[in-house]
Amino acid sequence: MRIVRFAHPQGMSFGVAEGIADAATVAQVEGHPFGEIVFTGQRWAMADIRLLSPILPSKVVCIGKNYADHVAEMGGDAPPEQPLLFLKPSTAVIGPGDPIRLPAVSRQVDHEAELAVIIGVRGARQISAEQAMASVFGYTCANDVTARDLQKTDGQWTRAKGFDSFCPIGPWIETDLDVADLGVRCEVDGELRQDGRTSQLVHSVATLISYVSQVMTLLPGDVLLTGTPAGVGPITAGQTVSVSIDGLGTLTNPVLAA
Ligand code: MG
Repeated sequence: MRIVRFAHPQGMSFGVAEGIADAATVAQVEGHPFGEIVFTGQRWAMADIRLLSPILPSKVVCIGKNYADHVAEMGGDAPPEQPLLFLKPSTAVIGPGDPIRLPAVSRQVDHEAELAVIIGVRGARQISAEQAMASVFGYTCANDVTARDLQKTDGQWTRAKGFDSFCPIGPWIETDLDVADLGVRCEVDGELRQDGRTSQLVHSVATLISYVSQVMTLLPGDVLLTGTPAGVGPITAGQTVSVSIDGLGTLTNPVLAA
């Protein structure tokens, strides 16, 4: 299923998208899409609604240095033996088409194309890697926008990764997808910048979920960013940045000055 969250004349709803691109229709869902889905009977043409970030998470847990080629381009020797965790605030999340706003205090803001995992079960805590995939609701595209200069000068990453609008996700959540070997790409104004594959992940999705769940309870809708492949680079005001993942479509955001 392709789960969307959308704005319509009567408010905001989750829905299930059917069909292709602009010809798609959205079947509105009552409440949230976790557990058994209940349809309201209302249907919308894609052209008559606006897609929002497909979820509003309680937290965004991110993994750093999880592709060897990205570790190398950042000047590192080898990926960490254990996953490297950091958090983005929920207020950084924006949806497809929403602008990334460059903070005035940074001279270099980079794109990072990443596969995002959406948790679907209540209270995922201390789960094994073998059981981890059962806690997945679905997947979407993400951009781990990063103020690279502040990341280096601050010594830790909260400010560099946490500005409002620094976590675009979308355009929807695909619930049935094998993510073992998907192409992950980033384009800036149509120029290919990143072109990796999820098969290059140092720590697998199952390993990451298990690892994170030993530390903090994962709630329905929580988002896990799985790291970025090589090719990260700056985005500047006026540009448009797109993250595409096989089977998940394309997440596009304009870049605006503060
Ligand atoms: Mg990243």
